[in-house]
Amino acid sequence: MFFKSKKSLGQNFLIDRNILELIVDTVKITNKEILEIGPGSGNLTSFILKKNPKKVYTIEKDDELALLLQDKFNNEITIINEDVLKVSEEKISNEKLTVFGNLPYNISTEILSKWIVNIDKDFWFESLVLMFQKEVADRIIAESNTSKYGRLSILSNWKLNIKKIVDIKPQSFSPRPKVDSTLLLFTPRENFFELKEAKNLEMITRVFFSQRRKMLKKPFNQIFKDSKSVSKKFNIDLNLRPQNLEPEMYFKLVKEYESLRN
Ligand code: SAH
Repeated sequence: MFFKSKKSLGQNFLIDRNILELIVDTVKITNKEILEIGPGSGNLTSFILKKNPKKVYTIEKDDELALLLQDKFNNEITIINEDVLKVSEEKISNEKLTVFGNLPYNISTEILSKWIVNIDKDFWFESLVLMFQKEVADRIIAESNTSKYGRLSILSNWKLNIKKIVDIKPQSFSPRPKVDSTLLLFTPRENFFELKEAKNLEMITRVFFSQRRKMLKKPFNQIFKDSKSVSKKFNIDLNLRPQNLEPEMYFKLVKEYESLRN
């Protein structure tokens, strides 16, 4: 294949057959509608097709790769030659999709955040099997009271259950990335905490975690007029730090903020 991989598009292709096998064994594919983000040269796509999916949609931004894929798979797959950040995934199919993605690392958190924020009660997907740079995956799965816990963990935990599948070494890719990777599985949380606006959660966690070493007093005073009564209501010690509060508590604080504003 005459193709020079583009660094700007985060092109590191998976070449390790054991890992490719493991990825497609993470969730059921047979008879399901699949969406693959960034199929690249189609390595993972081939493994997906071997499992007899009902249909495969792919989103690939690179025009050159989109043509290569068309050539390689003909009408076996539907290629959406666009930027994933601009696609409305919920409109792709009426069926719930099973999503795979060896995501370009420079936009992986942006994609995940976009999906979480846009989800309504009817999830458009059944599961997400996504590859991240290990350092980012560690932040997504981090629990409270740890140094990696923060905005990304809270946002992800809001609407999704998260399971770590496996760490993957640079040798499994070509060209080799500089960092380790991690495969995560996300499934919908059926009863997630309802908020008026996701942007309030983003704003409040930003205020708290932009000063993660400071005591809670400070962000509390910035967010709430009467921070004493709010902290009392939720039984929060304002001498603690942002990382000491569970995700659930942040959702409650956002709800309180939203109701106080009306
Ligand atoms: N899944 C393939 C390739 C992963 S590399 C494999 O495992 O072998 C990441 C892929 O995402 C590349 O094909 C790149 O062209 C594509 N990509 C990068 N940015 C994108 C974007 N904004 N929207 C859709 N695809 C993108």
